[in-house]
Amino acid sequence: MSLTTDNFDALVKDIPQNVRLVAVSKTYPAAAIKELYDHGHKIFGENRVQEWKDKKEVLPVDIEWHLIGHLQTNKVKYLVPGIQYIHSIDSVKLYREIAARCEKEGVQVHCLLQIHIASEETKFGLSRNELEELCHCITPQQQLWAPVAGVMGMATFTDDVHLIRREFRELAGIFRELKQHHFTGTSFSEISMGMSGDYRIAIEEGATIIRIGSTIFGRR
Ligand SMILES: *Cc1c(COP(=O)(O)O)cnc(C)c1O
Repeated sequence: MSLTTDNFDALVKDIPQNVRLVAVSKTYPAAAIKELYDHGHKIFGENRVQEWKDKKEVLPVDIEWHLIGHLQTNKVKYLVPGIQYIHSIDSVKLYREIAARCEKEGVQVHCLLQIHIASEETKFGLSRNELEELCHCITPQQQLWAPVAGVMGMATFTDDVHLIRREFRELAGIFRELKQHHFTGTSFSEISMGMSGDYRIAIEEGATIIRIGSTIFGRR
């Protein structure tokens, strides 16, 4: 037993079984990932393409990898094939590139639309208008290769739990609207929200995927 696996076990007890946990391993060494993998966990998230590639090379092939950080279009070619989920779709251009790359390589990548819900200016993500535009641009052919699996969002970095709850609730509302109007009959089903500091609120507000780093691996 180590601190990492102890932290992990305590966390897993705290989350409902229908919520998927992405262990965010950015900045932590591949050895830490391997330890959790040997402990039985197979879903990991990274936010930088090069760092992910370096780790992926030395780790078991059946890890399910999630890219959670901002992604530049010119880096997509390094991710596909290899990545299973991209949480950070924040432009039409990026989505198009991913879908094209998936079709060329003959692999599927699940895509989450990152939506700007925080009151901070600095966080990435689609505005309501950009989201509307993107949804109208997506073709059935693109959906085949790069299925839009749901939405992702980050709440404001604050102690104000009411604000955090409101932002998560907004994201869940957007998810329901999209499911009803744009992604009917598809596998659109995921709400990725909640990190170490706010995952309990996220779960209460309907998260299906939470992304947790420091609670598992320790302070960065
Ligand atoms: C780093 C990161 C996380 C995990 O954050 P912790 O506070 O370490 O749990 C989740 N989501 C995104 C997008 C991140 O960049």
